[in-house]
Amino acid sequence: MRYISTRGSMAPADFTEVLLSGLAPDGGLAVPAELPQLETEQLETWRGLDYAALATEVIGLFATDIPRQDLQALTAAAYGPTRFPAPVVPVTPIGEVADALTLVGLSQGPTMAFKDLAMQFLGQAIPYVLTRQGRVLNILGATSGDTGSAAEHAFRGQEGVSVVMLSPAGRMSDVQRAQMYSLQDANIHNIAVRGVFDDCQSLVKELSNDAAFKAAHSLGAVNSINIGRIAAQAVYYVWSWLRTSDHLPHQRRSGHLVDVCVPSGNFGNIYAGFLARSMGVPIRRLILATNENNVLEEFFSTGVYAPRSGEATLATSSPSMDISRASNLERFIWALLGPQEFMRRWAELEETGRMDLSGEVARMRKAGFVAASSTHSDRLEAIRAVHEATGLLIDPHTADGVTAARRLMEPGFPTMVLETAQAAKFPETVAEALGTEPPVPPEVAELLSLPQRVETIDNESAPLRAIIEERALRPTQPHQD
Ligand SMILES: *Cc1c(COP(=O)(O)O)cnc(C)c1O
Repeated sequence: MRYISTRGSMAPADFTEVLLSGLAPDGGLAVPAELPQLETEQLETWRGLDYAALATEVIGLFATDIPRQDLQALTAAAYGPTRFPAPVVPVTPIGEVADALTLVGLSQGPTMAFKDLAMQFLGQAIPYVLTRQGRVLNILGATSGDTGSAAEHAFRGQEGVSVVMLSPAGRMSDVQRAQMYSLQDANIHNIAVRGVFDDCQSLVKELSNDAAFKAAHSLGAVNSINIGRIAAQAVYYVWSWLRTSDHLPHQRRSGHLVDVCVPSGNFGNIYAGFLARSMGVPIRRLILATNENNVLEEFFSTGVYAPRSGEATLATSSPSMDISRASNLERFIWALLGPQEFMRRWAELEETGRMDLSGEVARMRKAGFVAASSTHSDRLEAIRAVHEATGLLIDPHTADGVTAARRLMEPGFPTMVLETAQAAKFPETVAEALGTEPPVPPEVAELLSLPQRVETIDNESAPLRAIIEERALRPTQPHQD
């Protein structure tokens, strides 16, 4: 598979070339120039594979320049038993809540959120590419919780890579803090900034825009636009489709259509589902779920995309979805409109801050998209309903998904809700919903008791630059111990 830029002026490149590059040189995002088509007979041959083996097949469609044997080793390491308990992604019918509703457990990894599934693959693939190219990478990022911890757990102890992660001092949950700050690996650097998440992100932007500093210190990112993350996320759409049709008689399997509901923020997770659907995975609809920050719900309902500022973004009880400018949406709009029309309409967005595609809503439906948003009280109700009916605890982001699924699901079509985090990561909202504190799982209790290591800096770039100058890996010194 070759990749081109949404903005139209990047020469076609291979997977391993775009894996480390972030934005394309023209400011766009890398998209597949062409998608292979999967026949259902092909999908059927994958039914008996375990998760790592299926990941080799699906990621292999995207990473055609990684030799198959190498890819096998990468997925075996990323999805092995030390990172995820078998079967990696459990699929659990919850017909007691609503007929034909199924939870897809994406949060069994080391940081209890779905970002582990993609990040653990990067944690193998990026060091592999760096070694072949004789390079090092210092990953600089800002996190409000889930991304930073997933990245640190994926890259800890890996050669040729370090992680410098900024987080807002005192503004993460106890579990999120413990997941990051308890890591003692020499290549992990946690920096708490006296400020909010936006301040952390501004510091990252300032340093990344300083081309000389960036080059001198081999700085890079693994944010949600990374194409390797998208490829790794496509795997579980295939996996869960196979699992919901496992019990069907053979002759009914191939035409078996499902709906998938995805709690969304930066549009990275659901974009991978859109690619899977475009390649022929029998997904009927992609149900996009948002919280009160409903920019994406508005887009798919009305066709108007009007990103909001940081100040206009509400702090909700599903905080990982508090996003009002979805960085991956550009990829979908490019696919929807085609390259020429995309350039024209994107210019309109950049000039006016808004894009009116109300004439395209029918095409969005044809591409599978419908959307719904939910509120804090919807989340509480969904957590309660699932718990009462099944005894299972779901987290507030998954509750947004259950709410949207219950609102939009239709009889006759199995509906899968992607479970994006574990309840134990967001215990306050779960306690509010149930009226009692949920039990603390033993591994969480142990995590919370570990010693923590973090440096706190003022909201200025000088101390951050000093830390990077002192600690960043250099090509001649690939391992720092
Ligand atoms: C990141 C995240 C989301 C949003 O996913 P996107 O790919 O940004 O749309 C939803 N839920 C949880 C728990 C997350 O960590």
